[in-house]
Amino acid sequence: MTRHRLLLVEDNPADADLVEDLLEEVADPGYTVERAGRLDQALQLLKERPFSVALLDLGLPDSQGLDTLRLLLKASAGVPVVVMTGHQERGTGTGAIRLGAQDFLPKDELQPDLLSRALRYAMERYRSQRELRLMAAAFDSAQAILVTGPDGRILRTNPAFTRITGYAEEEVLGENPRILQSGHQDLEFYHRMWKELQTRGQWEGEIWNRRRDGTVYPQWETISAVHNEAGQLEYYVAVFHDISEQKRLEAELEREATTDRLTGLFNRQRFDAELERALARTRRYGNDAGAILFDIDHFKRLNDTCGHDAGDRVLVELSRRTTDALRRTDFLARWGGEEFVVLLPETGPDGARRMAERLRREVAATAFEGAGRVTVSLGVTVIHPDDDADALLKRLDNALYDAKHVGRNSVVYHHRDPGEDADAEAPPLSLLQ
Ligand code: GH3
Ligand code: MG
Ligand code: MG
Repeated sequence: MTRHRLLLVEDNPADADLVEDLLEEVADPGYTVERAGRLDQALQLLKERPFSVALLDLGLPDSQGLDTLRLLLKASAGVPVVVMTGHQERGTGTGAIRLGAQDFLPKDELQPDLLSRALRYAMERYRSQRELRLMAAAFDSAQAILVTGPDGRILRTNPAFTRITGYAEEEVLGENPRILQSGHQDLEFYHRMWKELQTRGQWEGEIWNRRRDGTVYPQWETISAVHNEAGQLEYYVAVFHDISEQKRLEAELEREATTDRLTGLFNRQRFDAELERALARTRRYGNDAGAILFDIDHFKRLNDTCGHDAGDRVLVELSRRTTDALRRTDFLARWGGEEFVVLLPETGPDGARRMAERLRREVAATAFEGAGRVTVSLGVTVIHPDDDADALLKRLDNALYDAKHVGRNSVVYHHRDPGEDADAEAPPLSLLQ
């Protein structure tokens, strides 16, 4: 244990010697004493090094009475002060306490025990006061805080708890935090949380709770078990904050990053991720999946004759109609420009071709506002277990290219890469009507 550092402010050398003699008798860890005979010396020492505690004589050559204490306290942030009073100053002891001294000792009653106890308590009290202030400040945080006893009954909450949950502290004191449960997590969840609290002393995670008004919201929560010196469980402290806004923002960012602004469809990045999942499903489970890539015919011409805005409206309307024509489980994305791509889960070659044909007919039969008739060409294929994204997209692209070349407004199906493609030479399911 390191010795305490005592600042002894006393102008009378005999009194100072006496104090040092008395402290010599004090058991571990003992004191290292530094003396100051004047207040300005004391202030200088306080500036230069840290002290555990100060013992202050109020009557000094350069300062008298409670002013001495006032000046010392101002300079001694972090150091508890015990005042020594002479017999002519007895009344000043209580005044000193009021000003912020930890204790006062009449000089003519100094004894080793009394002195050491006064100093020790001064240090302890000072430390616990600081801790209380710290705790009070921490309790004032924007994070909700809930403290329970070992039995789980709520002992304390803070203002942020009330703000987030809607419960006033009086309403929940003595209750079990279960009153906040939303039913969104199962027993297994709480079981795991409990187990972790017991083994690690801490749990952290996302949890859905119910506010007083019944609304359910996600929160990020840390629960810590607090033990005393004897290792007994004293408290559980839960700290949490509402993350619904954060989640909403994340979802919005995610949506913005994965959707196409003009049409509201998924964009190519999102499609890439979806395609990887579809490829994995086919590889792992052999699931059938079809894919269609389609492109508006002569769109440049349409833009030129009807205007870019009319072209945009065609893209939007086409997206809407395609979405309507597809099943809920199908995945449609804007591949770029006036090209779109569709993934068709649980769909084999015939189903994929039929769906493409249906889209072709649907578009050809639609009168687009400000643009009249529009047609699309469609390339179709299915995912093979040994496909990767590049191979599949290349096949789709080739099929679309062929659909353009057989005269547009048509569907071409490619089963395999060129060379081994069984259907490459077969007539497309539909040609110009
Ligand atoms: P093809 O039948 O061979 O597909 O002929 P095309 O004119 O459609 O040819 P291409 O695919 O090369 O041209 C696509 C045109 O689509 C070029 C571009 O001006 C237009 N385009 C791409 N994105 C948009 C868009 O967001 N809005 C509008 N209005 N036009 C777009
Ligand atoms: Mg085109
Ligand atoms: Mg194009």
